[in-house]
Amino acid sequence: MSGKIVCPLCKSRFEKHDPKVWKCNQCGFSVSLLNGKPVFTDAPLELIPSGKIERSADQGSVWRQFNWKFIVDAANNLRDNADVLDVGAGRGDFKSIFSKHAYLGLDVYPYPEIDLAVDLIKTCPFENGSFDLVVLANVIEHVYEYKALVKQCAFLLKPGGRLLITVPFLLKLHQEPVDFYRYTRYALINLAEEAGLEVEQLDGYYNPLALMDEGIGNAWQYSLPKTRGMQKAVAKAGIFVSQRISDLLKRSLGNGYIAPAGHDPNPNVLGYQCLLRKPAGTNQQN
Ligand SMILES: [Zn+2]
Repeated sequence: MSGKIVCPLCKSRFEKHDPKVWKCNQCGFSVSLLNGKPVFTDAPLELIPSGKIERSADQGSVWRQFNWKFIVDAANNLRDNADVLDVGAGRGDFKSIFSKHAYLGLDVYPYPEIDLAVDLIKTCPFENGSFDLVVLANVIEHVYEYKALVKQCAFLLKPGGRLLITVPFLLKLHQEPVDFYRYTRYALINLAEEAGLEVEQLDGYYNPLALMDEGIGNAWQYSLPKTRGMQKAVAKAGIFVSQRISDLLKRSLGNGYIAPAGHDPNPNVLGYQCLLRKPAGTNQQN
């Protein structure tokens, strides 16, 4: 597990393993361990959500289910024991997908499920060209310095390796106050180019009825309380009927689909999934 982790200052191996601290024999840099895992950040512990949310392929939103399939497909294209880095791994939602691979999960917060806590923009305890796949699953909207993070991830890829990004577009504010951006596909293409990566796949997620459900739920929660008397009764009935209609429409129209971004004329994109490839023969320096 720890074999890939090196001193962020001089890139030497950490050799002195003691129960609480790793120390670099070359330059003396030391990192504290929390439950046996190196913590390179001083992220405030109180930002960690308390309970583990159990989620898997068939649970969660439609977007999450599409994400799951996209990541499974990427994993299936890797050789056994390929080196995978899950950046912003959080509660380890996707860890089980990589059971046949050399998987490392990191986050800026020391969640119990991760292998190390580090902010890659400030500290990089890996050598360049270390990973076959780097995953940024619904992460970059939460990273203020997202360009620096994507560039760092590109450095960490082996030539021919891939950076997998999933990112919401039409999605409400979430995980506040750490929610900074929504990206169009044009921004994602520029982001890839600036990091020296080729866009291999860029898909949009479309779901008109999820937008309808979002509107209905939003009206129930935020508009309805502002009404009174008859107006409220009529609104409640209307919302109830709308929910039934939405369920009916899902049965005939389906509940969302994925299509190559740019091929589908629908401008209401709920999210993007992309696979970016580091050209073989690139030998970038940090
Ligand atoms: Zn060192």
